[in-house]
Amino acid sequence: MNASPSLRNRLNTAVRDIPRSGIRDFFDIVTTMKGVISLGIGEPDFDTPWHVRESTVFALERGATHYTSNLGYLELRRALAAYVQRTFGGQYDPQTEVLVTVGVSEALDLALRALLNPGDEVLYHEPCYVSYRATILFAHGVPVIVETRPENGFRLTREMLEAKLTPRTKALMLNFPNNPTGAVMSRADLLDVAAFASEHDLIVITDEIYGELTYDGPHTSLVSLPGLRERTIFLHGFSKAWAMTGFRLGYACAPPELIEAMMKIHQYTMLCASSLSQKAAIEALARPASDIANMVQEYRRRRNFIAAALTDMGLECHRPLGAFYAFPSIARSGLSSRDFALRLLQEEKVAVVPGSAFGACGEGFVRCAYATSMDNVTEAMARMKRFISRHAP
Ligand code: PLP
Repeated sequence: MNASPSLRNRLNTAVRDIPRSGIRDFFDIVTTMKGVISLGIGEPDFDTPWHVRESTVFALERGATHYTSNLGYLELRRALAAYVQRTFGGQYDPQTEVLVTVGVSEALDLALRALLNPGDEVLYHEPCYVSYRATILFAHGVPVIVETRPENGFRLTREMLEAKLTPRTKALMLNFPNNPTGAVMSRADLLDVAAFASEHDLIVITDEIYGELTYDGPHTSLVSLPGLRERTIFLHGFSKAWAMTGFRLGYACAPPELIEAMMKIHQYTMLCASSLSQKAAIEALARPASDIANMVQEYRRRRNFIAAALTDMGLECHRPLGAFYAFPSIARSGLSSRDFALRLLQEEKVAVVPGSAFGACGEGFVRCAYATSMDNVTEAMARMKRFISRHAP
């Protein structure tokens, strides 16, 4: 199809000027090749727990096929409020402070659109999840990057944030445990960030989608810290810890004024999240502990293996502490992250994601997801070692 410049010129400029996600482009190539081991897509390889799938079938048979309340089924919101209190330490009223969304993706978009006026600045850390910058721009905000570095475990510090603050800063977006670096923040780190947000009266959007997936200690949630709840939008969902990506279910917890504003956008654009997915989520919350514990144990085993294997082949890698990603430096290969990933794919049939897909400061790294079987991880590391011995002997 020939691109029509006149149609292109009529597009919204923010949309027109944002490139497509580097991950998708790359994986279009992967799907055309045979025998590839993919450490690429950040999607759990586990099946959605059987009791969750079974209950979805029952829900369908019983006719749960209609619109739900815009906020989501009240039964689900009650279960979510109880889960968030138990697991993350935040207390929310299911009537007014919980909104069920189409994945964390929609919740992020709603949060930013509800908050931002054109020109408002949002502090966020890079390397980060591919959608953050685009979502801020779509909401007519100004993305302000705070670069995190492997030297301090890809953590955010108060000094780094202070350096990027301006009178137009309105919000701070965080994601720990982090995609793509596997970094986590300790309670002490988060207290510093919380003090910064409170002193400068910022709204905090915290994406804790990987909150259950930590390997060397428990996760600390921002909403458990004193004084932060009133300025925080907490985001979480079912894609990662329950391997429910295709259900597209997430949620936001926040003070009523913020949830009401987000709900208005959701109401006019989405109506509600899928009724069947909401039923599935109610079942998922009925016994999360055993479902999640088994996956965490297996991810930890793979994390230990992959961290050791990368070090053994001579790639420096900050030890991943959460999520299911390792983010080694490929500097010694002398290749750009895109060339490294392309050549690794062509020569050894291993797919990793170029660090540049996660922002300019991801250049010099690649993301290896260990959300695939131990056999695959083992074979991928053997192939990658061969590749490194040729390109960075
Ligand atoms: N936030 C982060 C940090 C992610 O890594 C992802 C998916 O990879 C999402 C949000 C999207 O989650 P969902 O499937 O709930 O839309």
